[in-house]
Amino acid sequence: RFHSTQADVQASRVQVELSQNRKPRPDPANLSFGKVFTDHMLTIPWKASSGWGAPQIHPYRPFSLEPSVGVFHYAQCLFEGLKAYRDETGKVTLFRPDMNMERMNTSAQRIALPAFNGDEVIELLKQLIRLDKDWIPNVPGYSLYIRPTMIGSQPVIGIAPPSEALLFVICSPVGPYYPEGFKPVALYGTTEYSRAAPGGIGAYKLGANYAAGLIAQKEAAKKGYVQNLWLHGPEHHVTEVGTMNAFAVFKRPDGTTEIATPPLDGMILPGITRDSVLNIARDHVAGKYKIAGLPDKLVVSERQMTMREVKEAAQSGSLVEFFGTGTAAVISPVNKIGYLGEDIQIPTGPDGMGPVSRPIWQQLVGIQTGIIQHPWSVVV
Ligand code: PMP
Repeated sequence: RFHSTQADVQASRVQVELSQNRKPRPDPANLSFGKVFTDHMLTIPWKASSGWGAPQIHPYRPFSLEPSVGVFHYAQCLFEGLKAYRDETGKVTLFRPDMNMERMNTSAQRIALPAFNGDEVIELLKQLIRLDKDWIPNVPGYSLYIRPTMIGSQPVIGIAPPSEALLFVICSPVGPYYPEGFKPVALYGTTEYSRAAPGGIGAYKLGANYAAGLIAQKEAAKKGYVQNLWLHGPEHHVTEVGTMNAFAVFKRPDGTTEIATPPLDGMILPGITRDSVLNIARDHVAGKYKIAGLPDKLVVSERQMTMREVKEAAQSGSLVEFFGTGTAAVISPVNKIGYLGEDIQIPTGPDGMGPVSRPIWQQLVGIQTGIIQHPWSVVV
């Protein structure tokens, strides 16, 4: 994938400019998502003629870009999201950063932005995080949200693959998604808009997907729902929960419990939390790593499901739970789905979480925060 005659990203070429005026650290108690950024950022320039230039770690500051650059006109923009966690000993870890780099390269390829060596960028991420690690509040549940981004930065309004690009990374301290315990959310089943189409861009983390999704979110909120549920096609296949992957759990007539999520058919964002949930459930089934509390007779499925199936299961009592997965919330339980004018009630556990998602969540968060040793956790 990196067979290019131009230079690839090389962490060893990094130039570091330290911030001369460190900003005050925010009060963890009133931290709202994504508004405060750390002292430093990473920028790596790319040119079609020469490839990736020297990476720069420098103070967080505005860019100077010509109004003609591609990102301002043709949505030449992609991003990633991952978190750095700090344990009580001060050790900082990232969760499966290789998966983010792989997805970022896949996104870049889809919109003709340049590929890069993910291992080198992970090395640079680690250097950046080490500089700003005291921005991670020393409070359980808090972390540093890392936002790698790439934009087309050629100052030309002709529509063409970019001849210049910028990869940059900013970091923002964040609090727990559910500070007061799990709060199940109500979803609105969107039938008015599509998130993705075959051959489209739904499987890629491109800025354009999010611009096109905001109206559905806004209309769901106006109707009194927290998020929208993206449905696809005439049969209203369940695809994603707002900006999370969708999971449903069914009790089956043969006594097994099925945990199901839509397959990666080109219209689903390949979530890292989704992949982790599937892996944890499959390792449990295979007896490789038993998770206390998970049903023994568990069936793990990547398959299509229609709203009709979800609705009938909810009405007959065979729907056990429904939840979204993503980096921000990890697991987000759902208690209601508004669908074609009626509300489908979804069961939730006593503390908001269901019987299958709770043990998986415990395992996942244990790995992320370093309580459980696992190769997915990468030391910074
Ligand atoms: N679907 C969409 C559309 C998303 O934006 C995200 C967040 N990246 C996810 C799913 C979940 O992905 P992840 O588990 O990697 O955060």
